[in-house]
Amino acid sequence: MRIDIITLFPEMCEAVMSESIIGRARNKGVIDVRCHQLRDYALDKHKRVDDTTYGGGMGMLMKAEPIALCFEEIWKQTGDRPHFIYMSPKGQTLTQNRLRELSKLDNITILCGHYEGVDQRLIDEFVDEEISIGDYVLTGGELPALVLADSVSRLVPGVLSDDLCFSDESHFNGLLEYPQYTKPAVWRGIEVPEVLLSGHHANIEKWRHEKSLEETEKKRPDLFDRLKGEGIV
Ligand code: SAM
Repeated sequence: MRIDIITLFPEMCEAVMSESIIGRARNKGVIDVRCHQLRDYALDKHKRVDDTTYGGGMGMLMKAEPIALCFEEIWKQTGDRPHFIYMSPKGQTLTQNRLRELSKLDNITILCGHYEGVDQRLIDEFVDEEISIGDYVLTGGELPALVLADSVSRLVPGVLSDDLCFSDESHFNGLLEYPQYTKPAVWRGIEVPEVLLSGHHANIEKWRHEKSLEETEKKRPDLFDRLKGEGIV
């Protein structure tokens, strides 16, 4: 998968996407991440990418043309038109299900907004999807874009060492993950649940499933009720 990020802060995105699991996946060539400086596509000598809003108001808005030019350049490089996502508090909230669908695409381009956002004409003409990371507002789209880039990358085959790493996790099957423990078996007098030390795989699986149900019902009753309504639990 190739992920292009259009941003005013490419170094910030590059730094995050160079570390740890994602950095290693990039080095192996499993994912290809490219961060583009939007100012390189500005049309004037001052490299301005924002301007005042029509109709008045305090804030500035990102201009359409530099974004369009940057996206078209990426498109030229990829051959196929990338799926174009604008990170926006007005978008659909990101879910694991949506990530699973996005992880099957070959090319996604992510636009990071700033100031008051982006000229609506660019959104209407170019953007395929607006995605939010939650019902709150950040100063810019870099953190949301990195959340999306990280969470979609780890679903691309070959990024994690074992697909079980994510198929066993919270939200994969709609449930939250069961509690987990590591050594020592007794920490400050608190013991690890006995079944986990038993080596009996069927019992461990049963225990984990029950705990998964318990965790979901306790911490996310909304998820639990939905699964119950669908007859899944
Ligand atoms: N005026 C916009 C509004 O009220 O919808 C908010 C603009 S916000 C200050 C600047 C940029 O941060 C947005 O263009 C978007 O790219 C990003 N952003 C802020 N909150 C976000 C969220 N919850 N999810 C995704 N992107 C967000």
